[in-house]
Amino acid sequence: MAKVGIIRCRQTEDLCGGALDFHCAAKGKGAFEEFGSCQVVGFVSCGGCPGKRAVARAQMLCDKGAEVVVLASCITKGTPLDFPCPHREIMLQAIRKKLGDKVPVLDYTHQVPKH
Ligand code: SF4
Repeated sequence: MAKVGIIRCRQTEDLCGGALDFHCAAKGKGAFEEFGSCQVVGFVSCGGCPGKRAVARAQMLCDKGAEVVVLASCITKGTPLDFPCPHREIMLQAIRKKLGDKVPVLDYTHQVPKH
């Protein structure tokens, strides 16, 4: 079972507890499909705008056992407000640069739910 660390948008913490992220990780759905059922070993925010702290937090998640780091859909797909993070690409690139090739960094957790 892969161990994953999830980074979510701090701006959406008041709106979402991440239930769908945890569900998809446990069931191996959404972005987790290639890994099957996953164990979430950390669930932290980006640290607030503009997201620079997400880089150190991604490293911290790996230090705590995460084999895969995931930016949650609130960051990259804008759920639940349909408002993606304006810094998502540079955040993703900075995290990938920091973690290197051995740690996959996924760019979403789940598809946007249909209402
Ligand atoms: S940097 Fe992006 S992901 Fe982080 S709080 Fe701001 S909008 Fe959300």
